[in-house]
Amino acid sequence: MTQALSADVLVIGGGSTGVGVAWEATRRGLSVILAERSNLAGGTSGRFHGLLHSGGRYVVSDPRSASECAAENKALRSIAPQAIEDTGGLFVSLEGDDPAYAEGFPLACERAGVEAVAMSPAEARSAEPAVNPGIQAAFWVPDASVDVWRLLGILSAQAAEGGAKILEHHEVVSFEQEGQRVLGARLKDSATGETRWVSAQVVVNATGAWSGRVAAMAGCEVEILASRGVMVAFADRLSHLAINRCIRPSDGDIVVPIRTVSVIGTTDVAVADPDDTTVAPEEVAAMVAAADQLIPGAGSARTLRAWAGVRPLYRPPGGAGSGATRTVSRAHALVDHATQDGVEAFVTITGGKLTTLRLMAEEAVDLVVAKIGLPATPAFVEALEEKPARPAYFRLPDALAHRESVWGGDRDAVVCECEGVLRSDVVALVAAARGRIGIGDLRRSLRVGMGPCQGGFCSYRCAGLIAEAAQAAEAVTEDLVEFWKERFKGTATVSFGAQARQEILDRWLYASPLAPPGEPVALP
Ligand SMILES: Cc1cc2nc3c(=O)[nH]c(=O)nc-3n(C[C@H](O)[C@H](O)[C@H](O)COP(=O)(O)OP(=O)(O)OC[C@H]3O[C@@H](n4cnc5c(N)ncnc54)[C@H](O)[C@@H]3O)c2cc1C
Repeated sequence: MTQALSADVLVIGGGSTGVGVAWEATRRGLSVILAERSNLAGGTSGRFHGLLHSGGRYVVSDPRSASECAAENKALRSIAPQAIEDTGGLFVSLEGDDPAYAEGFPLACERAGVEAVAMSPAEARSAEPAVNPGIQAAFWVPDASVDVWRLLGILSAQAAEGGAKILEHHEVVSFEQEGQRVLGARLKDSATGETRWVSAQVVVNATGAWSGRVAAMAGCEVEILASRGVMVAFADRLSHLAINRCIRPSDGDIVVPIRTVSVIGTTDVAVADPDDTTVAPEEVAAMVAAADQLIPGAGSARTLRAWAGVRPLYRPPGGAGSGATRTVSRAHALVDHATQDGVEAFVTITGGKLTTLRLMAEEAVDLVVAKIGLPATPAFVEALEEKPARPAYFRLPDALAHRESVWGGDRDAVVCECEGVLRSDVVALVAAARGRIGIGDLRRSLRVGMGPCQGGFCSYRCAGLIAEAAQAAEAVTEDLVEFWKERFKGTATVSFGAQARQEILDRWLYASPLAPPGEPVALP
């Protein structure tokens, strides 16, 4: 076993909730260790729809969640504007939609504190020419899109700057308890297989859809209704505003423009296993058809990939029967296991939305502080306040401007044509990581492999650059195979039209001229 560690707080889970808790606890001067079994955003947060909710989606069905989203939308914009594109959003009622819903929408928004501005159909079409022209009613709302990797990168870097230790690829495998008190946890490092003991004054379980499993390890109960949602990305930005259908929440009711793509989602299907992220071809077809209703022509646009994420919907002890997951509240829950299960020094924060991560973190850390108090000098808060004003929102043209500013002249080259990623971008990131980097990390940071070719060319170039930085060839090959397993999983169900030709080319390149050495690997 490697060296033991200790901190005021051990946060389990490196999704938006766990990273938010680590960030907030560090800001208050607490010492923090965060353990994530894969990479940051490796769970639901890296598989979400990408919307910074205005709250409009929930004003009728779930007003508490709507109000929280409205307030937290503003908060996140000021905390990490670089991770947010201020797209704005529309709610549109189309022919055949219940007119009563649209009629009640403005009052419901007002009651929930959600900003919404009524527009005439002509105004809505002028704001977003791609939208279905058969609009019956339209409202503008302050929706935005979020780059989750960038967001969690910013928050985790600030937490690390304040002393937090972020341990990716470390799974909590058991708890250490003395009587009815949690003393810490045992972590397993997936790279080395070694275990490591972490002691903490309080352990925060922020493992989303896995919260029930992790709580059970400490003899506590957290009931999670896991609900799988499927999304499909199109190869282009089909609209510049997020477009919501002005109806009760239902399948395929939002299209979100994110960077160079647009994403339609989602479904809502109860699943027994939080790791169940399967996607059925009929779900893809239903999503594409739904997008076509919001944006005519989307049905024949090029689809890039499909994926699923699993919502952690919380059901309180003695809560209502299983019901349809669509009707379960999206609001979050903070469980003090001392009061609920008689287990001290252990809390769970779960449910909610990515948009509400700051509020969830604030409430969880308030409870931690109530248990252990604050250190005398919260130095990090002061350091943060002294920082100069932060840069403005992300804008799509900024990506191009960045490329121009870092272009290393004739010796530089474009590694990823789809996203315009330069060799110098990759080399800089690989060098900064000092060998502990894979193609997946480059994808999350630079978007290599996210464009129309899905990595068909750039993945090999990236593998070469990682190998050049002296990483063992076997490890690079293994990483390349893992990258392709994941890529093909996402493209298999959308292989029709233009994307089918790309898929055939990608599979051929992978299987023959550029085949990784060793036994051929079965792909999805
Ligand atoms: C289909 C879909 C679309 C969505 N769209 C939106 C949207 O547009 N906007 C929005 O605001 N919200 C959206 N949400 C909700 C949002 O994505 C989630 O509420 C949020 O990401 C949950 O974050 P989390 O940190 O609680 O969970 P996760 O992101 O799942 O993080 C939990 C982490 O715990 C880790 N973990 C599990 N067990 C262990 C262990 N034993 N040891 C260490 N680590 C462990 C997991 O690997 C995981 O990374 C969507 C959700 C879904 C499913």
